[in-house]
Amino acid sequence: MEKLKISRGFTPKLTGKPDMSLIRLPFPSTIGCSAGDIPFIRPKLLVKEGQSVKTGTPLFTDKRDTSIQYVSPATGKVKKILFGERRRLLEVIIEPDTQDEFIQFDPISEATLAQMEKADLVDRLKQGGLWQGLRQFPAKDTAEPDHTPAMIIVSLNGNDIFSPHPAVVLKENMDAFLTGLALLRRFSHRLVITAREDCLDDLQNLSPDMGGLITHVTDTAYPAWNPGAVLYQLKETQAENSSWCISLAHLVMMGQFLMTGHYPVDKIITATRGEYNRPHILIRQGAPVNTLTAPAAPGGMVTTGRFNGRILDPVTHLGFFENTLNIIDGAPEDEMFGFVRPGLGKPTVSATFLSSLFKKPAQMDCTLHGEPRACINCSYCERICPNDLLPSFIMKALHADEIEEALELGLLDCCQCGLCAYTCPSKIELAKILADGMDSHYKDSQYKD
Ligand code: SF4
Ligand code: SF4
Repeated sequence: MEKLKISRGFTPKLTGKPDMSLIRLPFPSTIGCSAGDIPFIRPKLLVKEGQSVKTGTPLFTDKRDTSIQYVSPATGKVKKILFGERRRLLEVIIEPDTQDEFIQFDPISEATLAQMEKADLVDRLKQGGLWQGLRQFPAKDTAEPDHTPAMIIVSLNGNDIFSPHPAVVLKENMDAFLTGLALLRRFSHRLVITAREDCLDDLQNLSPDMGGLITHVTDTAYPAWNPGAVLYQLKETQAENSSWCISLAHLVMMGQFLMTGHYPVDKIITATRGEYNRPHILIRQGAPVNTLTAPAAPGGMVTTGRFNGRILDPVTHLGFFENTLNIIDGAPEDEMFGFVRPGLGKPTVSATFLSSLFKKPAQMDCTLHGEPRACINCSYCERICPNDLLPSFIMKALHADEIEEALELGLLDCCQCGLCAYTCPSKIELAKILADGMDSHYKDSQYKD
């Protein structure tokens, strides 16, 4: 097991770490299949309001590859179809029956898995609504099935500091995990399986075999376990730039799907808020956000990652890629003489507040300390970036439409961890600017092809 250590990155001392217990929430009254969290997709709707669907019925597909299906996580009636600007599909909402009726495929044994044609495996996963769990660098779009990736990175830890603990997920799903790994070995001879150092003991207590399966242990500083940060440390050749990655949750779902022949409907998530150490939650795929959390305090928000997640409207449903909810409360009223207060309870990167001297965890809120301001060339963003980038220089190149310069500065190496935006004293949305730049370059390059 190799140790990967990032020299930069940053983990704020935060309250609210989920405990290791697991509770099941009741079956929700609506279930949604969200298109809003799927990058690059051009959704094409396949159902109408009022139509009956089974669990696993395709609800929409991607116009770029109509063999990729996004399927219903429930049996019932299509209650509502929500569109956003320019009639972009946002969600298909199902009114569920209490009993599931599944679209059923033949289960695949491990022996069959080893012999099946690769193209047949890809087709099965596409029809089952799971192929899209495999993502391809650098833009992390759906993996290209004809591509042979130099490596596949499996990150056992999630997008956020308090994403579900891998030992909680694997406790009930070890067989599905092993089947998922057997599947991945059909697509690449190199699997990189990473776990955060502070999770290793729990994983090894779960199964002594884990020590042999995990290839790399990562630092505990955020975002050392992010697949983009792992790739940046490991890659040596140009070919590795188009490697694939997959989350533990999707790998387990693929394994469950192959073993049972039907779409897996449950998911383990965390919902953190303030100082409460809540249990992990077992819910139905596509559960509504407002049944999982109390609303945030005024001015606050619910996100699916503290530094880089989607901001969720409480009436929406949790997406296919989302398993972490952070409820971040609104900023307190302006503090009288706030600039001379010691800030003992405020997280800080730059040691502006005295809290940096103590180990006591603090709570995050939405404070911006004023409006966005111009870049002051302080270099905090560059000192925190885990992939050694110069985010302010890349931002300026993008603003000047100098895409070649942004690429030379390493735009495609950005793992979208969001730390630069968090640390920026001018509150510039660096991570979003870089992500938008990468996405538009990627879309242009697709169009040229
Ligand atoms: S540029 Fe920002 S978002 Fe990208 S890797 Fe660096 S810190 Fe993270
Ligand atoms: S942290 Fe913000 S203000 Fe400082 S150099 Fe980076 S972009 Fe500019």
